[in-house]
Amino acid sequence: MKEIIFTKHQQEIASKIDREAGKEQWTDWKWQTRHSIKTIEDFEHLTDISFKEEDKRQLNETRNRFPLSITPYYLSLINKDNYINDPVYKQAFLDNRELIVTASEMGDPLSEDHDSPVPGITHRYPDRVLFLVSNVCAMYCRHCTRKRKVGDVDSIPGREQIKEGIEYIRNTPQVRDVLLSGGDPFLLSDNYLDWILTELEAIPHVQVIRIGTRTPVVLPYRITDDLVNMLKKHQPIWINTHFNHPREITSSARKALARMADAGIPLGNQSVLLADVNDCPRIMKELVHRLVANRVRPYYLYQCDLSEGLSHFRTPVGKGIEIMESLIGHTSGFAVPTYVVDAPGGGGKIPVMPNYIISWSVNKVILRNYEGVITSYQEPDEYKPTLCDRNCKDCRLELNLKDGEEINAIGIEQLLSDYDDTISLIPADNERFKRRNENEDIEDAEN
Ligand SMILES: *Cc1c(COP(=O)(O)O)cnc(C)c1O
Repeated sequence: MKEIIFTKHQQEIASKIDREAGKEQWTDWKWQTRHSIKTIEDFEHLTDISFKEEDKRQLNETRNRFPLSITPYYLSLINKDNYINDPVYKQAFLDNRELIVTASEMGDPLSEDHDSPVPGITHRYPDRVLFLVSNVCAMYCRHCTRKRKVGDVDSIPGREQIKEGIEYIRNTPQVRDVLLSGGDPFLLSDNYLDWILTELEAIPHVQVIRIGTRTPVVLPYRITDDLVNMLKKHQPIWINTHFNHPREITSSARKALARMADAGIPLGNQSVLLADVNDCPRIMKELVHRLVANRVRPYYLYQCDLSEGLSHFRTPVGKGIEIMESLIGHTSGFAVPTYVVDAPGGGGKIPVMPNYIISWSVNKVILRNYEGVITSYQEPDEYKPTLCDRNCKDCRLELNLKDGEEINAIGIEQLLSDYDDTISLIPADNERFKRRNENEDIEDAEN
């Protein structure tokens, strides 16, 4: 393994923080978090960037609203000669536009707090839960969707709250996948995280645990051998990280990723589409190429959420579709993330793609490929649909399912199924149905 690189520029910053500090301190993640930049003055001192007094007043107001914290490492990636256009600067440093709240923005746009059976758990999908185990991060992303929570001393999940979350998972047998997030779970100590993972692993129905962390991007030194050895005990663990720009994939980040990949941990990446940071097909293609070269599978590309103060980061959905158009077919399939809009109000992630189906008749589908070639696919003249009434014993398909494991179909899957006679899904407040006979309830109307 190559030595960790420690640049002259990083030494300069380290010396300004502490005259004695060198590579040993710099590459110690605890030193990094202890010396994270939390004030505008420290930022100015360490970067030699300076702001006008009147701007600083507003910047301080922004900082009082949403916390500032930048690791010395991440700060060292800022190109101070062109910081205004720098993707690292834009993700890390305050912008007065964060104080602008537009009419469509919300504190909790994804209704994570509504779909929360116990504090810290969001149970939105049938078989998996989001479990917020930390509310602190090494670096507070300016585009954070949970801006309302991170860094807020009133939202720190204590051991009791974590126990309550674990208890909920233990008592909810349909949960087979637990997604640890926060804040950043990797800001917890190895021992504490070990305890959480041990508790979860002991629950028979929990098949996989996922961890979402941005430390490989903003604090790669956190990925120590000790951490990785601890994680290895708890396989299968999947880790998703959050690179948004190719510039973030430095030699230190690559080393952190390699350590985890070498331990057999599958790695994914979730990017957020951000105006003036990565809203460009070329940047995105370079990012996904560097990710797969480092054994990280691009997982999701998120449309920026409607959280308060993010309007300057948001792009039209069309920009995301344009980026997907530039990736699908043009590069390796496994380098293409799924572009999703997380439904405001809590509907979950909705995948969005360019259209590839041009038309359809009873036996032909007309498709187009990434080059614009239009093609037809002849469907079979004879296809016997198998009526599925969930009587798997008599089915000719070789599928041995224990009935007990199944859950009822919901949504479009329900409409497609043969064993459920629902014919339409109707929003609860549909005016037309409200006008119908009041005694007739909606369920009758559906059938
Ligand atoms: C994203 C998310 C998940 C996981 O979704 P996947 O599509 O399985 O990655 C689970 N719960 C909540 C609340 C989420 O936001």
